[in-house]
Amino acid sequence: MSKIIDGKKIAQDLSAQLKTEIAALSYTPALAVVLVGDNPASEVYVRNKVRACTNVGIDSVEHVLPANSSLADLEAVIAKLNNDPKVNGILLQLPLPEGMDSAALIEQISPAKDVDGLTYQNMGRLVAGAEGLRPCTPSGCEILLKQEFSSLAGKLAIVIGRSELFGKPMAQMLLQNDCTVMQCHSKTVGLKALCQQADIVIAAVGRAQMVKADWVKDGAFVIDVGINRGADGKLVGDVDFNAVAAKAGYITPVPGGVGPMTIAMLMQNTLKAAKAQNEKSAATPKQQP
Ligand code: NAP
Repeated sequence: MSKIIDGKKIAQDLSAQLKTEIAALSYTPALAVVLVGDNPASEVYVRNKVRACTNVGIDSVEHVLPANSSLADLEAVIAKLNNDPKVNGILLQLPLPEGMDSAALIEQISPAKDVDGLTYQNMGRLVAGAEGLRPCTPSGCEILLKQEFSSLAGKLAIVIGRSELFGKPMAQMLLQNDCTVMQCHSKTVGLKALCQQADIVIAAVGRAQMVKADWVKDGAFVIDVGINRGADGKLVGDVDFNAVAAKAGYITPVPGGVGPMTIAMLMQNTLKAAKAQNEKSAATPKQQP
């Protein structure tokens, strides 16, 4: 039987550390959350993020825009937040309403305030192995792995999914941890046989219970990123949890695995952005009167 990784508890411990660190600052970090339209799932995510901010002592400001907002309206909001010295982090809640170019809008966010780590500059810094703000969900998965393994070197890791939001940055992080990485997607041939070889299987597809017990080798570390709504309305991941838990060495549940880590990483990124901005402004020589 697998060790069930309690992402909720790990995220709570991390948040408690962040809270202590934030309380000792001479300023209060602030996160601006931009929500467009009235997608119920996005509203829940935003509510959870705002609650997490309150818990750790980060100020949060919500900007809710109607679904029929123009690109210019959104660009104006982002520009205002970029120029507001009181705002340290900007989060554009995805997905945006149909027809809106999320990549173009993300590019409008100042990389210094890009707490989702999705601007091309932060993506490029990740690929180059340079310091920067890194996407929250893969960062959370990296912590879950490192809690169990002192080194990931040489492990064969498979990431199912190649989105900008998760799959691509996750594969980069694993590579930087000296894993041998396979990045799979909808055109991959023989996915099951590839998974059977892997020490680490990370599923981020959005297909309920796709990863079955016979896809996973004994003792593997299985991370389930997927969030799907079952026929009974309950949340299920991309992994057939009960069957895979009987085979794998470690497994993250849905809910209570990766999700809470994503929010904790958002708090961590907001603190990191706030510190960098405050250090930079302290180092900038004051203008002579
Ligand atoms: P996405 O942009 O829709 O990407 C899904 C990926 O899965 C694509 O790369 C796609 O391949 C691949 N795929 C689709 N069908 C496949 C198949 N049959 N076999 C292998 N690969 C297949 O989704 P995402 O944003 O990465 O999110 C994935 C899941 O994670 C969703 O359920 C989402 O809700 C969840 N998620 C959870 C969190 C969290 O905090 N827990 C955060 C982010 C995402 P192609 O590229 O070839 O189309």
